[in-house]
Amino acid sequence: MDLELNGKVALVAASSKGLGKASALALAREGARVTICARTEADLEAAAEEIRREAHAEVLAVQADLTTAEGIQSVVGATAERFGGVDILVNNSGGPAPGKFGDLTDDDWRQAFELVTLTFVRFVREVLPHMRERRWGRIIGIQSSSVKEPVQYLDLSNGIRPGIAGLMKAIMPELAKDGITINLVLPGLFLTSRINPGLVSADAQARKLAEEQIAPLAATIPLGRLGEPIELGHLVAFLASEQASYITGAVYQVDGGNIKSNV
Ligand code: NAP
Repeated sequence: MDLELNGKVALVAASSKGLGKASALALAREGARVTICARTEADLEAAAEEIRREAHAEVLAVQADLTTAEGIQSVVGATAERFGGVDILVNNSGGPAPGKFGDLTDDDWRQAFELVTLTFVRFVREVLPHMRERRWGRIIGIQSSSVKEPVQYLDLSNGIRPGIAGLMKAIMPELAKDGITINLVLPGLFLTSRINPGLVSADAQARKLAEEQIAPLAATIPLGRLGEPIELGHLVAFLASEQASYITGAVYQVDGGNIKSNV
């Protein structure tokens, strides 16, 4: 299927590694021009090179801290300057720290709100003028299975992420008037450095050890394994496509069957 993404401009947030990088790669393979961003310059440059090499795509790498309004404005501004606008936003961020309710401070809650909610809000706010101008846009938020079902020891995520689904649904009709769709994808458990840095290590011994450590976790997932980041990237690319034109306000889990709720 041709996803008709040739030449589209995709901005993928928090994307030097993991799910963000895989989403950028999936979009680039479909012909999109992509902006990636993160704080660590060396990782960012390595990811940009990898995507250019694998997808023969145009990639802009912007170093920025996405927990600040200025950081987000600089990424959107640099994308508009280089590519002339933004068609697709993959709204991703770093994940909130693990922790149980009784151990979390007001500062922990404030930081998690800034990381998850404000990043989501600011990115949507900044890209909307570009999408409205084109009367076309795709916004895909990467959240977590915690939107549907609480995850043990992740009470910041459990408390904050479901609100993003409420916000997405609330703003969806207004965006629809301008031909802009907005949807969420919910990762279950994926092989990224967030789950265990060893999983993506270049060192074979460290990778083997990490795989042994996560084996009991993998055994609890109906498909018997953690996901490869590109398996989420494929859904992101589809939701960004022309073919996904009648899908908006929807929430899709990509979890190997891990979420136990009915819907
Ligand atoms: P990851 O592999 O650790 O990658 C995180 C990416 O975000 C890196 O490129 C990182 O680069 C960037 N980043 C983090 N904080 C940033 C900031 N303040 N400003 C700019 N860039 C920032 O993580 P992941 O597993 O792909 O997770 C992505 C999102 O999905 C997270 O919100 C996570 O909670 C969520 N999620 C993941 C899973 C999973 O199984 N992996 C499951 C459910 C939900 P720098 O550190 O260099 O900035």
